[in-house]
Amino acid sequence: MQTTANSIDAPVRRTFLPFNQPDIGQAEIDEVVDTLRSGWITTGPKTKEFERRFAEYIGVRHAIAVNSCTGGLHIALAAAGVGPGDEVIVPTMTFCATANVVVHLGATPIVVDVEPDTLNIDPQCLEAAITPRTKAVIPVHLYGHPCDMDRISEIAKVHRLLIIEDAAHAVAAEWRGRRVGTLSPATVFSFYATKNLTTAEGGMITTDDDEYGERMRVWSLHGISRDAWKRYSAEGSWYYEVSVPGFKYNLADLQSALGLHQLARLEVMVQRRTELAARYHAGLCDLPEIELPNVRSGIRHAWHLYVIRLRLERLEINRAEFIERLKSEGIGTSVHFIPLHRHPYYRNRFGFQPADFPVADAAYERLISLPLYTRMTERDVDDVVKAVHRVVQRNRR
Ligand SMILES: *Cc1c(COP(=O)(O)O)cnc(C)c1O
Repeated sequence: MQTTANSIDAPVRRTFLPFNQPDIGQAEIDEVVDTLRSGWITTGPKTKEFERRFAEYIGVRHAIAVNSCTGGLHIALAAAGVGPGDEVIVPTMTFCATANVVVHLGATPIVVDVEPDTLNIDPQCLEAAITPRTKAVIPVHLYGHPCDMDRISEIAKVHRLLIIEDAAHAVAAEWRGRRVGTLSPATVFSFYATKNLTTAEGGMITTDDDEYGERMRVWSLHGISRDAWKRYSAEGSWYYEVSVPGFKYNLADLQSALGLHQLARLEVMVQRRTELAARYHAGLCDLPEIELPNVRSGIRHAWHLYVIRLRLERLEINRAEFIERLKSEGIGTSVHFIPLHRHPYYRNRFGFQPADFPVADAAYERLISLPLYTRMTERDVDDVVKAVHRVVQRNRR
């Protein structure tokens, strides 16, 4: 028999709740098997169909499938001619890929601070960072909450900057009734394993610009002229020409097989994420030690991540300890993100100090991403809520 003290001390969860798990249904599995048996496993008919349906869902003329969002960002910049001597403005609160691709092209990433409520790029910081060398800006719709695209578009227009959106978190998000993916010359989505729509690894670029779209397509596959993937089919020809030194970023039909069914379920999946986020909100809003995600009016949040911020002045433990305590309760969490200015490469190359990014730097110390995925049950969310309450109660000042 367990003593009362022991049962109080037992963790909230016996079985560990992972931070993320993909939601792969039978339709995805069947489509992958069908692809394997079809005789065409890499870029081909299923990828073309995935592109067509994705473009239709977003409401845009072109969708170019790529094997990662990172690759998509790389070729969106390359096809726009970004290179040595150019500057590209990026927010510090993002995944490193957003800035790494700028470095790959020999251009200079100009890292700026973010807005306190959403942690999205601060339009004022963006404007202040513009120089005659600025070519482009990469706004990141952090956690699935769209950036202030009205302000950013206005600034870009005045200063003739290209906007390439990093929408890795934002498939199905909307800005003032318009879907993310229709707002700028190029928007790049991620289908990485943890993202809202997954193909294990993958990505998509959307654009309404026929000419820019065609250039990005050429850059995505060795710089080979259009429909190069057909060269081994009956419609294809052995002849091709290389017009630019392109990359190898095409998406395989094996992956698009997953994407076709994930896309068909996307609205249902985002609805589920929205419900789970609301349940977190209801369960946590009475804790003064925790700051909950802010949602501005006039947007549709894609709820890729549910990120709380600790009010450290009300707690006796720091973020790392808080994460450890949640782990002991059986709850997996993560941190999004370690800002660019804290990573050795960027810190050393540009001599960044935390004080250069006061908003992002202060927020970083307080961030915890809670589990949020469609396979979670209400019970799972309630367990996380209970664990957070317990850790707060035991460690409040
Ligand atoms: C995941 C992610 C990427 C990279 O996506 P991949 O498809 O893995 O290349 C880029 N930016 C942000 C903000 C991300 O979260």
